[in-house]
Amino acid sequence: METEHYLDQAATTKPSDAALLALNKAAWGNPSSAHGIGRKAAGELKDARIAVGKTFGLSRLSKDRIFFTSCGTESNNIALFGTAAAKKRDPARPGTILISAGEHPSVENPARVLEKQGYRIVRIPTTGGALDLGFLEEALGSADSPVIFAGFMLANNETGAVYDVKSAAALVKRSFPDATVHCDAVQAYLKRKFTPLSLGVDTMTVSAHKIHAVRGAGALYVSENVIRRKNLVPVMPGGGQEEGFRSGTENLPAIASFAAAAEEGFAALAENEAKVRALRERLDRGLAELGLSVNRPAGEFLPGLASIRLPGIRSETMLNYLSGRGVYVSAGSACSAAAKKKSEALLAFGLSENEADSVIRASFDATNGEDDVDALLEGLKDGIASLQRKK
Ligand code: PLP
Repeated sequence: METEHYLDQAATTKPSDAALLALNKAAWGNPSSAHGIGRKAAGELKDARIAVGKTFGLSRLSKDRIFFTSCGTESNNIALFGTAAAKKRDPARPGTILISAGEHPSVENPARVLEKQGYRIVRIPTTGGALDLGFLEEALGSADSPVIFAGFMLANNETGAVYDVKSAAALVKRSFPDATVHCDAVQAYLKRKFTPLSLGVDTMTVSAHKIHAVRGAGALYVSENVIRRKNLVPVMPGGGQEEGFRSGTENLPAIASFAAAAEEGFAALAENEAKVRALRERLDRGLAELGLSVNRPAGEFLPGLASIRLPGIRSETMLNYLSGRGVYVSAGSACSAAAKKKSEALLAFGLSENEADSVIRASFDATNGEDDVDALLEGLKDGIASLQRKK
């Protein structure tokens, strides 16, 4: 195989040297054990919590919590189900849940489960890559049961659109101060500067394997206010780890790797952002020369994620062609590609089913170089010529 060009960083990332070192060095003891080996592990777990907390803008003294989980999916599930179960609800009208249209399945699917249990789910349109705040205001005004939860992702995993979570959170809080506002920040984490406080959210999800740590760790931020008001309860009874919110022996090696990658990414955030921006400009110039367009969000977006439209070629066909040349992208998002479902995010963006079938996602970060972008452009140019000829 010729040189490989990995442009699927939104699906997962290669663990950095620092992340692998931390994984190997981590204490193997059980952090709950009272002896020396356990205490060593507990000390490292505490250090990891402080390190990840710093990337969320938390000081050592903060009473806000960071619970370690196994992944972003688990964090989102805990937030949704833990909020729904927190209070006694009227079975006839248990409450309203607002989420943005085209959320990741780890938010959308738990919401569907709750819908079957009687909760009213309202999806806030994201046409053109912007959260429709006017619609949100109307939904808040016309809710026929209290809004208990509102979930807005910060950056969409298929279009890269960055939503105005801060304004949305403020609107929800104005009408329903006791609602939990949640943010799935998996794609935006360490790609741009923000904190739960700057967004005004109560709970927030991130995932380690998207930031050059190994798989097997994620985090759920929970504000002190949510804990104090008992607006979240544990949904998985067990040994009571992570203050009971995520029972199960902590995966310290993965968590230590997560903390190392988080520290690394946080220190280099501005530098990495500038590098990715330059790569995006190069990609955009090249795409324009090829006459290809991008599903460009109306407002802010992650420069490291480009949703590229193909002229009458199916996403999968192009993906396989590029893969044969060692250029790795995805068709929509990795999860929807595996499930062979139409991408909800692309439909929510405003694409027709046909259009959504002819999109590839190229995602890159500061570990990529100009050679990767150039290889993609070359691959697209040759691929379009060859695949269109075959039609
Ligand atoms: N949320 C978003 C926006 C994602 O892109 C992903 C993964 O693709 C997840 C949640 C799920 O994260 P994990 O793979 O850690 O479960």
